[in-house]
Amino acid sequence: MQAFTLTHPSDAKTAVAAASQAGAKYIAGGTDLLQLAKDNVETPTRLVDLEALGIAGIRPGAHGLHLEPLARMSDVAAHPDVVKGWPVLSQALLASASPQIRNMGTMGGNLLQRTRCGYFRDTGFACNKRTPGSGCPAINGENRMHAILGGSDHCIATYPGDMAVAMTVLDAELELTGQNGTRKVAIGDFHKVPGDTPDVETVLQPGEMISGIDIAASAMARRSHYLKVRDRASFEFALVSAAVALDIDGGTIRSARVAAGGVGTKPWRLPEVEAALTGKPADAATLKQAADQSGAGAKPARMNGFKLVLLRRTVLRALQTVSA
Ligand code: SF4
Repeated sequence: MQAFTLTHPSDAKTAVAAASQAGAKYIAGGTDLLQLAKDNVETPTRLVDLEALGIAGIRPGAHGLHLEPLARMSDVAAHPDVVKGWPVLSQALLASASPQIRNMGTMGGNLLQRTRCGYFRDTGFACNKRTPGSGCPAINGENRMHAILGGSDHCIATYPGDMAVAMTVLDAELELTGQNGTRKVAIGDFHKVPGDTPDVETVLQPGEMISGIDIAASAMARRSHYLKVRDRASFEFALVSAAVALDIDGGTIRSARVAAGGVGTKPWRLPEVEAALTGKPADAATLKQAADQSGAGAKPARMNGFKLVLLRRTVLRALQTVSA
């Protein structure tokens, strides 16, 4: 493990300046970063601890939900206003990791967790994401868990998280703070597909931090659901997951948001499913026809063709649940 210094800035400006230095990284809950550091996958020389900034608030209101980046996963999942107003978010958080990790893991850190590709996490293998230009053994290797959407010739690693998939159907907006001030980025624009730079996973600039998350309140957010399918019932990453949110009025679907996890190189919105739902009666035929649109453009690898079938079944089950 690489030795590092640890600083505890008490204001955002100092934190950004410290994290902008070469070899520096932010640390919040540390549940992913410290494991990666122990395995020498991450080798920071300076860690900038955000705890002293006091940015762990959970603020629901009539018009929306504001989350600060160090709010703990378990606290957000259990907040009664979140359970009622944004159930997909609470359910996705409760489907993540283990109770112990949810007690430590934060909103900002969860959005930035790294892929679970086994080659990435084992420095005995080449990996374009860890060492650009070294190769991708997953493409012709063990790829049952890998992506069927958004991959490239350089990387097919799945984005591992649940919460960001839920935030995708809620059209969450992230506030980013860096050396040039504060800017807003839609959740759908935050994570990047690998292309020929799989080491670049988000639009964050050096030293920039996630300083807030805003999610609007809506009828659709209240009628939302997260379904995760995995190899075991707890402490496991998604083979496939589906987040859905529907606005149904008089039996007609006025608008729909659908996204998937476990299948894409980033949280994967399914606009083809949304289009097949919008303006249609909320009946069994509509839901089945829409779910069958899932995964347009998918390119399964040697071992994960099953994900396309599983994706359509998972989306259908989630739609049936939320429209009942
Ligand atoms: Fe590395 Fe991506 Fe290939 Fe996995 S899929 S070995 S993370 S380049």
